[in-house]
Amino acid sequence: MQLKGVAAAPGLVMGPCYVLEEVNHPDFTRHSISESFVDEEKGKVHIALNIASEQLTAIRDRAEAAGLEEQAAVMDAHLMMLGDPILTEGFMSMIASEKLPGVGAVQKGIAAQADIFEALEDAYFRERAQDIRDIGRRLVNILLGIQEADLSALPKQLILIARDITPSMMASVDTKNLLGIVAEIGGKTSHTAILANNMSIPAVLGCHDIVNVARAQGVDALIAIDGSTGTVHLGLTDEQAATLKTESERRQAVKASLSVLKDQATMTKDGVHVQLAANVMGPGDVEKVLAVGGEGVGLYRTEFLFMDRDKAPDEEEQYHAYKTMVEGLGGKPVIIRTMDIGGDKSVDYLNIEKEENPFLGYRALRICLERDDLFLTQLRAILRAAVHGQALVMFPMVCSLDELRAAKAKVEQAKEQLKLRGEKYDESIKVGIMIEIPSAAVIADVLIKEADFFSIGSNDLTQYTLAVDRMNERISYLYNSFHPAMLRLIKSVIDPARQAGGQKFAGMCGEMAGDPRATIVLLGLGLQEFSVGPAGLLRIRKIINSVDFSFAQAVAAKALTLGTATEIESYLAEILPEDLRAYLV
Ligand code: PEP
Ligand code: MG
Repeated sequence: MQLKGVAAAPGLVMGPCYVLEEVNHPDFTRHSISESFVDEEKGKVHIALNIASEQLTAIRDRAEAAGLEEQAAVMDAHLMMLGDPILTEGFMSMIASEKLPGVGAVQKGIAAQADIFEALEDAYFRERAQDIRDIGRRLVNILLGIQEADLSALPKQLILIARDITPSMMASVDTKNLLGIVAEIGGKTSHTAILANNMSIPAVLGCHDIVNVARAQGVDALIAIDGSTGTVHLGLTDEQAATLKTESERRQAVKASLSVLKDQATMTKDGVHVQLAANVMGPGDVEKVLAVGGEGVGLYRTEFLFMDRDKAPDEEEQYHAYKTMVEGLGGKPVIIRTMDIGGDKSVDYLNIEKEENPFLGYRALRICLERDDLFLTQLRAILRAAVHGQALVMFPMVCSLDELRAAKAKVEQAKEQLKLRGEKYDESIKVGIMIEIPSAAVIADVLIKEADFFSIGSNDLTQYTLAVDRMNERISYLYNSFHPAMLRLIKSVIDPARQAGGQKFAGMCGEMAGDPRATIVLLGLGLQEFSVGPAGLLRIRKIINSVDFSFAQAVAAKALTLGTATEIESYLAEILPEDLRAYLV
């Protein structure tokens, strides 16, 4: 049996499936029991405390054995809190005196304890509120017989299935044991997909009904997912499993064969060099970029530094993160994008009101231009980090020249502040913009006069040009970066940047840049920089190094005359040299 979803991150893997249940606990704090049940409810809580302690110890031991010290320490802290008599005796007395059922007593006791932590001045103790809530969730799950999922320490190698796998779940998941992911929500350029790509984890998203279907297969059923085609294979026969295994090994071999390109330049056969850089999420990705011979970082998505926490990182924390990245790249250019919060990347502490259309709403630069506290802090950190190598700053979601000017004025203001503080910073940092809103693409000739570079954000540019929400699986069949309107817009962005000459350039950091089906046409359109997930970087180099620029130009010219995305895709599939077809998956 096969289910189809969106091919969100390439790779073919097979393994036991693990369905993550969505848990919404009912509130039991208003329920009451009669006196005769008090002892029984106390007993249940005692048992739950013991089970929770066993679970935490097991997770701690696994983390320790895997060398994940930080995670082991967190589990130790949870164990300590769980053993705190103030907490546990509190549960018991609420059962006895308030006649709460065990689960209600746990909910009330945990909420009270978390509130105490939250009210404290010290940030460290405030963060403990989250830990205590985590413990509470675990206890309630046990009391209600709900299986607890701990993504940071998966019990074994598995394929994770859930209705929704959020970007923050991906950021904290145990990557060693995560073979692949399948979710009902999300599209090709949702941030879950982007993270999966960066982490080299095969992913199928937007897979309708996968939770029910996988559940029906039973616990630990063997499934396979092909993130290159968006297929989930269930109920495998031995024969099917063997065929998929052979195919997976073949793909591994193709991938391994690319490693010889690691130290080569990215240059067409007729000698045209393009910059092949990598997309990263944080300093932890430096190794991955260097391992594949990335020529720089074309997109550092700094917003991940702002996620999954209680308040924004201060200037020092950001400075250290950016400095580590810039130093790690040893003088190669690092394009640091200012935070792009909003859309599917939420940050609770910014208290952004829920919007009907978050992708068209209060997002990215729109927030930054109103929030000096966030923007100037980030700009100062970037300017300081730039001293340690080569950093460029880039603004997301620019829709007008006014916005570009306003953002550049903030860069100047940040420089002034640093000058007054007597800090070292990069006075002549290059300032570029993402071209991801059609209005910016249309006035690219105007914008390039005041920007040092462009990076085309094809993910958003596709959704805004085609009016297709990049997260909505109902209409994902319409989301296609090969639409003729996209090719024309891309050309209208590249042309003025090339004409401007000097050191100005047009690059692309959206997922299209890493799509091997698009490489030749983008090259032919004159794209000067490709920035792609590190895992897929070498196959792009392979394609560029295998063709002539003149051939790519002819391909682009012909593609621009075609009227539909399907015609363009078929044409590009047809002209792709035979020996390069193996690199499409
Ligand atoms: C894009 O929109 O293409 C892009 C690179 O930005 P993000 O995916 O982070 O929105
Ligand atoms: Mg974008």
